[in-house]
Amino acid sequence: MFFTHDTESALLFVAALIDTVPEASDSGGDELADPAELIALLDAWEYSGRRDGDARELAEVRDARDRLRELWLLDRDDAANAVNTLLAESHALPQLVRHDRLDWHIHATELDAPLARRILVEAAMAFVDVIRSDQMDRLRECDADDCESLYVDLSKNASRRFCSTRCGNRMAVRAYRARTA
Ligand SMILES: [Zn+2]
Ligand SMILES: [Zn+2]
Repeated sequence: MFFTHDTESALLFVAALIDTVPEASDSGGDELADPAELIALLDAWEYSGRRDGDARELAEVRDARDRLRELWLLDRDDAANAVNTLLAESHALPQLVRHDRLDWHIHATELDAPLARRILVEAAMAFVDVIRSDQMDRLRECDADDCESLYVDLSKNASRRFCSTRCGNRMAVRAYRARTA
């Protein structure tokens, strides 16, 4: 494990969120098009804290999704600046908390802060770890030429190239066909 458990799960959640855009989603459609889809995503990730379930919250989370997609692919120095901006504008205040089944971990916003702000700050705190440990290259875009899915490579030797086995297999077939054509 390269990161602490909460950093790792925050990164995996961010990857799931930013891969709901049409150019990265499994369905090929926008998978964050209505509040029900947002609730389903939060439930799937057991995301705690305030949920309004309204159109405004959805719009804010969709904006956060765009910002985090951009952040994912920045180089280390630009990412550091972007994270500082995010933390400053959200008045983040890191606190160790223990809730539900979770052992001590960091929250830098109140559980009743708006969902999009909590998502952004939690992501920013995870990026603090990634940047400090010089692991930005583990935040990747899928190598398949028809897929813009972003993922975190948690493999031991940082050798993962595709977002999924589906993309890996598709590209392997294509490479094989090209070789034998
Ligand atoms: Zn928590
Ligand atoms: Zn892919």
